[in-house]
Amino acid sequence: MQILNGKETALTIREELKVEIDGLKEKHGRAPGLAVILVGEDPASQVYVRNKEIACEKAGIVSSAHRIDASVSQEELEGLIQKLNADDTIDGILLQLPLPKGLDSQRCLELIDPGKDVDGFHPMNVGKLMLGLPGFRSCTPAGIITLLERYNLPTSGKKAVVVGRSNIVGKPLAMMLMQYGDFANATVTVCHSRTDNLAEEVKAADFVFAAIGIPKFIKKEMVKDGAVVVDVGINRTDEGLVGDCDYAALEDVASAMTPVPGGVGPMTIAQLLINTVQAYKEHVGA
Ligand code: NAD
Repeated sequence: MQILNGKETALTIREELKVEIDGLKEKHGRAPGLAVILVGEDPASQVYVRNKEIACEKAGIVSSAHRIDASVSQEELEGLIQKLNADDTIDGILLQLPLPKGLDSQRCLELIDPGKDVDGFHPMNVGKLMLGLPGFRSCTPAGIITLLERYNLPTSGKKAVVVGRSNIVGKPLAMMLMQYGDFANATVTVCHSRTDNLAEEVKAADFVFAAIGIPKFIKKEMVKDGAVVVDVGINRTDEGLVGDCDYAALEDVASAMTPVPGGVGPMTIAQLLINTVQAYKEHVGA
């Protein structure tokens, strides 16, 4: 079985971006800027934000983290987003979710300038994805497509099953897989908590994408011999971090698979950097 090493691939991408950013900085007189808004003390969010800051720094992107108390009002938060929208040194704005109770995350996401929406959550960018138009793509699914590209595993003509229909992973991933292109053009089935005969659907897939949030949900007997398995799940268990797939058992059937950790997670961050550089280039006219 081929291990789809997201950690290594992300590192390569980050090194490539660093070289590109060094050149862009020289030509346009400033580095790309990413503002990250973190509200409250959610421990997982704090780790994600820290990892994003480190990745930015290493690639030459200036990241400014706005760590805000959970008691912030909706108006204050919206005021900050508007300020960042108007700031010419900021190319990307990322609002770390989930927000503490009482704050309206959808309203905040819709307030972010679509041209700075490097997370691809603004309805404008979601709509552009649906229409197959250029725009910012949600980082986790876009990072998965980038990983398939880097390992030259085209999905064109193949049967892909996405398990999970969340707005940040399952739905946009299914939409990306059904667009035109070698690493799209798939025949896509989306499964979720109400799917009848889920095991049967998954068994028919050449590419399985698991974004469920239940440890080891995808078992060996559910996967076709030779299938490519992408495990998006990050579940904190007594055994440590575990994906949505039974990795050890699947090693006997899958032809290629992402590990957890070190698979999709690092690719999500790499994609955020790619999106930020894309935003920067549009802003400076590169
Ligand atoms: P979510 O909770 O929003 O969605 C889970 C989906 O799984 C739902 O659409 C639901 O229909 C489906 N589901 C739940 N129970 C099911 C069942 N019994 N059978 C079939 N489908 C079922 O989760 P999400 O935000 O999409 O995240 C999914 C997982 O991916 C989580 O473990 C999360 O931590 C992880 N994640 C990882 C990254 C990354 O960068 N690696 C990014 C986002 C999410």
